[in-house]
Amino acid sequence: MTDFTTRPAFPTGTIIGYPRIGRRRELKKAVESFWAGSTTAAELEATAAELRAATRERLADLGLGRTDASIPESFSYYDQVLDAAVTVGALPERFATLADASGAVDLTGYFTIARGEGENAPLEMTKWFDSNYHYLVPEIGPETDFRLASDRLVREFEEAAAAGFVTRPVIVGPVTFLLLSKASDAAPEGFRPLSRLSELLPVYAELLERLAAAGAPWVQLDEPALVSESIEDDRAAVLTAVAEAYRALGAVAGRPGLFVAAPYGSLGDALPVLAASPVEALSLDLVRGEIPSGLDAATASGLAGKTLVGGVIDGHNIWRGDLEAAFGRLTELLSLTPEVAVSTSTSLLHVPHDVEDEQALPAQLKSWLAFADQKVAQVATLATGLLDGHESIQDELNAASAALADRAAAPGVRDTAVRARTAALTEGDFSRGDYADRLAAQDAALGLPFLPTTTIGSFPQTGDIRRARAQLAKGLISEAEYLGQMQAEIKRVVDLQEEIGIDVIVHGEPERNDMVQYFAENLDGFAVTQNGWVQSYGSRCTRPSILWGDVSRPKPITVEWSTYTQTLTAKPVKGMLTGPVTILAWSFVRDDQPLGDTARQVALALRDEIADLESAGIRIVQVDEPALRELLPLKKKDHADYLDWSVGSFRLATAGVRDETQIHTHLCYSEFGVVIDAIRNLDADVTSIEAARSRMEVVHDIQTSGFEHGIGPGVYDIHSPRVPSVAEVTELLETALSAIPGRQLWVNPDCGLKTRGYDETVASLTNILTATRAVREKA
Ligand code: GLN
Ligand code: ZN
Repeated sequence: MTDFTTRPAFPTGTIIGYPRIGRRRELKKAVESFWAGSTTAAELEATAAELRAATRERLADLGLGRTDASIPESFSYYDQVLDAAVTVGALPERFATLADASGAVDLTGYFTIARGEGENAPLEMTKWFDSNYHYLVPEIGPETDFRLASDRLVREFEEAAAAGFVTRPVIVGPVTFLLLSKASDAAPEGFRPLSRLSELLPVYAELLERLAAAGAPWVQLDEPALVSESIEDDRAAVLTAVAEAYRALGAVAGRPGLFVAAPYGSLGDALPVLAASPVEALSLDLVRGEIPSGLDAATASGLAGKTLVGGVIDGHNIWRGDLEAAFGRLTELLSLTPEVAVSTSTSLLHVPHDVEDEQALPAQLKSWLAFADQKVAQVATLATGLLDGHESIQDELNAASAALADRAAAPGVRDTAVRARTAALTEGDFSRGDYADRLAAQDAALGLPFLPTTTIGSFPQTGDIRRARAQLAKGLISEAEYLGQMQAEIKRVVDLQEEIGIDVIVHGEPERNDMVQYFAENLDGFAVTQNGWVQSYGSRCTRPSILWGDVSRPKPITVEWSTYTQTLTAKPVKGMLTGPVTILAWSFVRDDQPLGDTARQVALALRDEIADLESAGIRIVQVDEPALRELLPLKKKDHADYLDWSVGSFRLATAGVRDETQIHTHLCYSEFGVVIDAIRNLDADVTSIEAARSRMEVVHDIQTSGFEHGIGPGVYDIHSPRVPSVAEVTELLETALSAIPGRQLWVNPDCGLKTRGYDETVASLTNILTATRAVREKA
């Protein structure tokens, strides 16, 4: 049993984390100006401290307690996993010189690990669970020298204390930290970072001691890796690690209370292990996961002695939601333990700061929304309900229910014509003709050479392009002027491709601010925000659109751009669309119907767009699905359903075309093996994927999978300013040809070129063509 006599009780209302980028992206601006050398480390630190102070004040104003550890210290300059790595001294060998004698790195060193320097590649970046946030992957080997190398958490707790707060330090938990790490270059074959747990734990223990000495009553350890079934196959080893970790940390004398947060799904078989551990408080994601039921006696009695923190407010989406139902779930938790608290399901990192910052959104839509600040207020309301009873919050619950009813009945949320159309779909709408017939028809129609060359769609987004877009938005230039500038840009891009000798031409996407937002702005059922920025990684933010209603296409979107482009060249122009799964993944989606239903509506809008492109003489259309892998559910039992609707929506979008129209798709990663069946089922004629970064490793997966359609493994790593040499591209092409029949192979970069400069782009594409011509001649 928890000893509630010596430790203050866990706060009744809290959040797992709060956006750290700032209401107006102040942190982004401060960090980037430090990188640019315009400000000093001390100035950056001062800005960060101001932001942390403002956040604490804000959270207290919104109803979290000032001194009861309900406010989490969830700040990060770049990424919380990187923070954990530098806290425990886990630097890869190549960055060892950045640390001082105590193992500490300064801000410059910290950012160097995140961004690389010269020959030294940064830590790899990858998606954080099934979100669009990316974390840095620590590298752990037998050589990693764990030690408490940073006291940042202690200092931030003390900083808060000096301002009159008692807050709650947050760190990635030891098991998740190791599960998210990869083996270092120095590690032997088969090495698992988790095998270093027993050497890592003393560092966490020391940190707990330091925090206790500073007066922290509670510490939050984030263990989301426990909910995912895709991170580690040896689940038994994970459970053993959880037991060992929390036994060890529980035994630290005089330590703060341990609050383990497990966002992004249910804990499954990790729940009994945590129930049996000395952890005093445990969060359950009750948006994605369920209230635990059917518990064995030991687990039930373990949980009965803990505070269960019900994550009933969705931290991953922007809806105001059903507050009454959320309160109901908290009440159900009371059957498991007398100590129930309320929280968000995940950190609020995934949502923008404040609905009140949106002046342009319709008032009715705003009344249905809750961004981070509104969600904090919801938490505070439910906490009041827990303390003072249901009646004490009846007005707030009723208001939320009324907003929900208003939303359900609002015009546009349900569009009869859209629904009639999805209801009438039949099998045949999802299938194209036989691939062999298509191949023959496309060969005849397109006349492409052996090893056809193309790009992924975007060309560098120059300052001029961005300026023109901003000026149009502000009304400083007319539509006609804007169109003229964009057409001039398209002509430049087409001429350049012709000059270099590329076979399938793109228009370069200059008119698109973002591959999803552009479509959201042109489809009914979406709204876009002004300040709804969400951190994607480091200083990078995205502004997801809000998909609130039934989706339809009021008029053609890309057709004029593509047909204009086709007038400039005799070569085939590739129309360029973003696929339904990616549009959903990178927007805030409605939560009142299954994702698959929403995906079909988007697919039908795209299907109409593709039909119009085809009628206008466009012979190739690419439908990008870079997010196909990202949305793959964390639980294996959910995979089949997901793959069914996601692949189905792509097929629905693309299956309306004639045999001779060539459908391309593009996926931004090289984990081909994981989703190969899904990729095959997309039934695209040509699939381009990232491969240069991993030196064509992926071609072996393609070979063994028996994939028979066109495939373009990238030969140019566009994430780096480096220009690949002719020799390098030649070697990559030869590697690809050694595994994949030449008739299937396409030549293209890893991804779009929008983040690159023109000089590198021209040099790289020229080298790609030189290499391709040489390889063609030899074949
Ligand atoms: N067509 C897009 C581009 O080239 C694809 C981007 C992506 O895959 N993320 O920019
Ligand atoms: Zn890509």
